[in-house]
Amino acid sequence: MKTTGFVKKIDELGRVVIPKDIRRTLDVDHNDYLQFYLEGDSIIMKKFGDRCTFCNSSENVVVFKNKLICRNCLEELKNNTSIDPYPDNESN
Ligand SMILES: [Zn+2]
Repeated sequence: MKTTGFVKKIDELGRVVIPKDIRRTLDVDHNDYLQFYLEGDSIIMKKFGDRCTFCNSSENVVVFKNKLICRNCLEELKNNTSIDPYPDNESN
């Protein structure tokens, strides 16, 4: 693991500022999503992306069950009751 030399204090709400150099290097900015991993006593943050898992849109994207989905696809899913949850099972 490469050290960056940055030390930041967590504020009273549990927030910490990610140093600008790191944000620039990893191309993360405000409103981007980060996913957290634990490895031993370390916290690892990875860029989660910013696009819908299904249509690749970056508009109105929210997190649903650890996946990014846009509001349009979410509505489409909610309104589509004909989805076959077992598409490989042929019923003869
Ligand atoms: Zn979508």
